[in-house]
Amino acid sequence: MTDRLLSLAQQRWSAPLLRALGLPQPQPLRRRATVAWQRQELAGRRLRLLAAAPSALAPRLQAWAEACGLVLSGGDESAQALLLDLSAASRLDELLALRALAQPAVSGLARGGRVLLLAPPLDAAAGPEAAAVAAALRGFVRALGKELGRRGASANLLALDAGADTAALEAALDFFLGDGGAYVSGQVLNLPSAVAGAGESLQGALAVVTGAAGGIGAATVRRLAAEGVRLLCVDVPAAAAPLQALAAAVGGEALGLDITSPAGVAQLAQVVAARGGASLLVHNAGITRDRSLARMSAAEWDSVLAVNLGAVLAIDAALDAAAALRPGAREICLASISGIAGNAGQTNYAASKAGLIGHVQARGLALARRGGGGAFAVAPGFIETAMTRRMPWMLREAGRRLNALKQGGQPEDVAEAIAFLARPEAAAFSGQTLRVCGQSLLGA
Ligand code: NAD
Repeated sequence: MTDRLLSLAQQRWSAPLLRALGLPQPQPLRRRATVAWQRQELAGRRLRLLAAAPSALAPRLQAWAEACGLVLSGGDESAQALLLDLSAASRLDELLALRALAQPAVSGLARGGRVLLLAPPLDAAAGPEAAAVAAALRGFVRALGKELGRRGASANLLALDAGADTAALEAALDFFLGDGGAYVSGQVLNLPSAVAGAGESLQGALAVVTGAAGGIGAATVRRLAAEGVRLLCVDVPAAAAPLQALAAAVGGEALGLDITSPAGVAQLAQVVAARGGASLLVHNAGITRDRSLARMSAAEWDSVLAVNLGAVLAIDAALDAAAALRPGAREICLASISGIAGNAGQTNYAASKAGLIGHVQARGLALARRGGGGAFAVAPGFIETAMTRRMPWMLREAGRRLNALKQGGQPEDVAEAIAFLARPEAAAFSGQTLRVCGQSLLGA
């Protein structure tokens, strides 16, 4: 769907008019093509690497930058990426020094630039001052993301300690400082130091994607196919035509079934087991039936919980019973910012999506015990799909603009986050929820 404001903001005659009227001026985001991830795609970009104090991470950050072919910038020209290493910060004076450290580099950040702040973990802070500093850095990044949004740029935070796994650290740097994270801003991921072994590579592995016929599901299928994944594309029988066309386009298999029917779930488990088991499961199918609780029918309540949450639990149980998940398997659930912030008219939807956020915490632990896999939630904000096309115009326009980037995300933005979390190295982030919402003001 075309975003008129986005195109008007790029035209010489209309941009000043939007400014004079006080309307948002969204900037086009720098996105990846749907191709396999390659570290070399960052080659030649300028990276500014700043640390508050000598840091044990420095050699690892420099080695990553070198492997990517990034050019380390001394600050005399604008950089496309800024990496602020405050991973050892624990004192108030280090926080006080942050303004002077970051200000010139942030001012010189290119349009569409990326900032990643490395911070200490909150729960391991050694005392009240260290905890205050760790929390303050989170507040700093959330505010900075909102300032950078008008330049199409982003700021995120990775909390880690010096013992964190290098492969997981590098996967996060790839995502947050590369173009895959175009619609992710103001977010925090925690990288714990002790992590079980990572799961299998995606190359040649089998992935199941539910709700694959369109929107985020179809974009996810195309993105995973680019990584060499074998796809089992699931959607309702009524969506057979687009589902089969998509499966054929990626050399995958289409499976038309209703995930809320016990027979459909049994059939899915049987097909996955017959194909040798899945290494990746993307629970993407979802529906909305919006109405205030006072007026909501039993059918509206039940159907949303059945598709969005009940089917996920049933599929997991059936796959477990059929031993149809391979050791190290990863599971990704499509939650929503509505499940984090709540949204009027969505008690059913918000409950189902918050349920998924809880589910991945427990499920992640269970999968990790079976060979280093994990479970994750991706919580999209306003994404341009059939689901948001059905919204009334005013609500749709508000949904698009109420975020730091002043625009809706594309299904491909969510697919990039899924592809990042599906990497074996990302198992370290198991149990967490990553929002892909342009730093939505909902639940901020
Ligand atoms: P969409 O409506 O475009 O696609 C959802 C797909 O799920 C459809 O192809 C549909 O046929 C399928 N589906 C529904 N019920 C099913 C069932 N019983 N069995 C099998 N398949 C079924 O939606 P989308 O916008 O691509 O959203 C994908 C996921 O992301 C959903 O879980 C949604 O809740 C979530 N999400 C979307 C947005 C957004 O802005 N689009 C925001 C937050 C979360």
